[in-house]
Amino acid sequence: MRRLQDDNFCSLNFFAIKPVKKEKYFIIYCLLKYYGVIGKMDKAHTDLKKERGDVMSTEKIKELAEKYYPEVVELRHYFHMYPELAFEEVKTAAKVAETLERLGIEVQTGVAKTGVVGLIRGGKPGKTVLLRADMDALKVQETADVPYKSKVPGVMHSCGHDGHTAGLLGAAMVLNDMKEELPGNVKLVFQPAEEEDGGALPMIEEGVMENPKVDAAFGCHLWGNLLEGKLQFKKGSLMASPDAFDITIIGKGGHAAMPHLSIDPVVMAAQVIDQTQAVVSRRKSPLAPAVVSFTMVHGGDAYNVIPNEVKLAGTIRTIDHQTRKWIPEAMEAVVKGVTEAGGGSYEFSVKKRFPPLINDDEMTDVAIDSAEKIVGRDNITVSKEPNMGGEDFAYFAQEVPSCYFFVGIAKSEDEPVSHHHPEFQWNDRNMILSMEALAQVAVDYLNRD
Ligand SMILES: [Zn+2]
Ligand SMILES: [Zn+2]
Repeated sequence: MRRLQDDNFCSLNFFAIKPVKKEKYFIIYCLLKYYGVIGKMDKAHTDLKKERGDVMSTEKIKELAEKYYPEVVELRHYFHMYPELAFEEVKTAAKVAETLERLGIEVQTGVAKTGVVGLIRGGKPGKTVLLRADMDALKVQETADVPYKSKVPGVMHSCGHDGHTAGLLGAAMVLNDMKEELPGNVKLVFQPAEEEDGGALPMIEEGVMENPKVDAAFGCHLWGNLLEGKLQFKKGSLMASPDAFDITIIGKGGHAAMPHLSIDPVVMAAQVIDQTQAVVSRRKSPLAPAVVSFTMVHGGDAYNVIPNEVKLAGTIRTIDHQTRKWIPEAMEAVVKGVTEAGGGSYEFSVKKRFPPLINDDEMTDVAIDSAEKIVGRDNITVSKEPNMGGEDFAYFAQEVPSCYFFVGIAKSEDEPVSHHHPEFQWNDRNMILSMEALAQVAVDYLNRD
């Protein structure tokens, strides 16, 4: 095995060792090459070097993560005490920028209003990997009794984005110390407004995927349904597209005792609601998950008056692009048919929100392998079920091969932690896993052949 450490042994350069006996060595080389021995030795040599490099990088990541952990906890407590709503993350962005600048990392601020982008340039040329955190809080009054309780009335980090922001800063500290060995760059994206209109798309529109061009993206969410110490992954569709629809059924108002003299929008609205359920249950493949929920029905304001119109609205949740496109088309066909048959007319519109979040299979494998180095195979779960919630990391995943994963914060299976709840709280220590996993996946992605 010692000889495998000698680079010359496995290459043509070994002719230089004893030039006098060139012919003899050439015959031996040809024979070894013919029987595939040289190839195997080269591969064994590369594998050995890679394995040794992997162990070293994981040890270094863990050591650095522990070194920076106290500072990351302080940052998290600061973000938690001063939570800010979507596109108002001014103090948060300033703290992020200040921290990155102090580390000597290139910083760009004011991207999509309050977004911040950091760039760690590796010591060697290579690809660029993007790591993303979201920074916004929610309109929730904190009731949890923690020493770092929110100081802003009615606003709270009740989804864990304080931990995402601090955790990514922690990963930045680790990676910045390893930058000379990195074959490529790490782009650190701190985005605004995940909880509302989404900050990912405007950041992309303002060029976050360029200069240098991003090749892959990774991100994670602290997750209340997953046990502490565990990391969860899923290939393919992970989260739904939370689109919204508005329908106006237009009839002709009149006396409720003489319906034949009016065109009743209430009856047409009832048929639309009923027939739309058949779009989901009868016309769509049962293997393509989707939900259509009518959540608002408004029409009429008297016992004896047929109204002119009825307004309907609700949400369409899908997890693949094809079903997402097809369901509104099928719904509009129902509305058109019902109103035509009833003598009325309609207006129909869909507000497209985030696309479905679809993980790339290969990047998910890369992330699982990296996670295994951090927590071991027993602490990794691979889920088969998507989640019908939405997440605007989906926009990054549409641009480049990506993987979004979950980091556990639940203390026991019987006590899942509810996100968006006034009592939402979790142990700081869980951030060490997100720091290590994000740093490891960035190192591994950039070192891929
Ligand atoms: Zn949330
Ligand atoms: Zn969230």
